[in-house]
Amino acid sequence: MKKNNSKLELNKEEMKNYGYQVIDAIVDHFHSQNRKLPVAMGSREEMDSLFLEEAPEEGMNSKKVLDFVLEKVMTNSTNMSHPKSYSFVPGPSNYVSVMADTLATGYNIFSGGWAASPAAAELEIITIQWLLKIFGFPQKKGGGIFTSGGSMANLTAITTARKVKCGEDFSKAVIYLSDQAHSSNIKAIQVLGFKKEQIRIIPTDIEFKFAINKLKNCIAKDRLEGLLPFCLIATSGTTNTGTVDQLPELAKICKKEDIWFHIDGAYGAAAILSRKGKQLMKGIEKADSLTVDPHKWFFQPYEMGCLLVRNHKHLSHTFTEKPEYLRDIEGNTSEINFYDHGIQLTRRFRALKFYMSIKTFGLQEFRNAITYNIDLAEEVETLLRASKNWEVVFPATLAVINFRYNPIGKKYSQKKLDEINQHISEKVVSSRKALLVTTLLHKQVVLRMCLINPRTTFDDVKETLTLCEDFAKGFN
Ligand SMILES: *Cc1c(COP(=O)(O)O)cnc(C)c1O
Repeated sequence: MKKNNSKLELNKEEMKNYGYQVIDAIVDHFHSQNRKLPVAMGSREEMDSLFLEEAPEEGMNSKKVLDFVLEKVMTNSTNMSHPKSYSFVPGPSNYVSVMADTLATGYNIFSGGWAASPAAAELEIITIQWLLKIFGFPQKKGGGIFTSGGSMANLTAITTARKVKCGEDFSKAVIYLSDQAHSSNIKAIQVLGFKKEQIRIIPTDIEFKFAINKLKNCIAKDRLEGLLPFCLIATSGTTNTGTVDQLPELAKICKKEDIWFHIDGAYGAAAILSRKGKQLMKGIEKADSLTVDPHKWFFQPYEMGCLLVRNHKHLSHTFTEKPEYLRDIEGNTSEINFYDHGIQLTRRFRALKFYMSIKTFGLQEFRNAITYNIDLAEEVETLLRASKNWEVVFPATLAVINFRYNPIGKKYSQKKLDEINQHISEKVVSSRKALLVTTLLHKQVVLRMCLINPRTTFDDVKETLTLCEDFAKGFN
């Protein structure tokens, strides 16, 4: 037998130096990111000119590869953790969780089954318990699973709802969601093979909440047609405006109609840790399933989503398959195999970062950060209302605020206002100084700030608004 020299290894010294250089780069990044430009832009041609090559047969010096990556890859990626990244949903992240991810990957822990890594499974059970308690779900009966993000959590939820409410035949099943529900829900519904005719998009009222009367009419008509209403998706914190649907009322409808009540709290649910958020989240504890997205407002780095369910048996009932090659590792029921509770078999150890960051900072620090975010958005609202240039289009809700440039005395047409605000956003983004994009509310183009980064200051926002005003003045 020939000796194998191809073990994909560095020597110990090289490993250490490599690692130290990576840590130095990350720590420098955390400390200097506020002073850097958040937005990266590049065409396919520009990126090709940097990176396009055939897979090299021969390796090269490890440090050279690392230097190249730090210089060309990291600098050509938008920084969603930057204090002036206001758009879509920022990812503020935190250093402890970054190191926890490094550990989980470094030890390459398999988080699929109990037998392979009892401690990893236990930490997932424990951290899911923490979340169940935070959201008022039953501690004993409840359960959940960490996923790559909110999209996968929603897919897991709808799969479970279908199994529990429809069994094998879902040909007559109908699902309800509002026109403000996140697009990942529609994607999940399509992945699951539902036809267009089985999806009911219910309009929203002036505050972007479910139009309840229309929903009730729709369910009643579907019953009369012999269809099977099986699932309703409410949102606790819409991505557009932070609006929370009427959770207690929707819970009642679902109970009466025997419909699975899923709440998509990917954006906003974490706000329950603050006093104001808790008020808004009343009724969230009545859901059959709840999506939360720790890589948003629980300050975790990508990727981490979570699905909580009121009855853990619903997950195992939906996702347990018993292939012969897994027969030796089944264990007892309190020793959970998470591959039986969701879609993935091989899973990374996501619970570790949640565990370590909460142990290190304490829940109180998370509460304070979220409270700060909500208060900051309200202060920004006050500032905008007091200005001659700005109009608040939708009030600050769960740290989201929608506004537009509309100076008093100018009497711009709707079309012109849309154009100016579009122009402002395009100019701001191409200046690379802030990530601030538009959305559409009641068909108006508006600017939207999502302020969930605890490092964003009132001055950051004021600077950004001044930048916007300068660009607005240059518009003809
Ligand atoms: C972000 C978001 C999602 C999708 O979550 P990902 O983590 O991006 O997959 C789903 N629903 C809502 C309300 C969201 O804000």
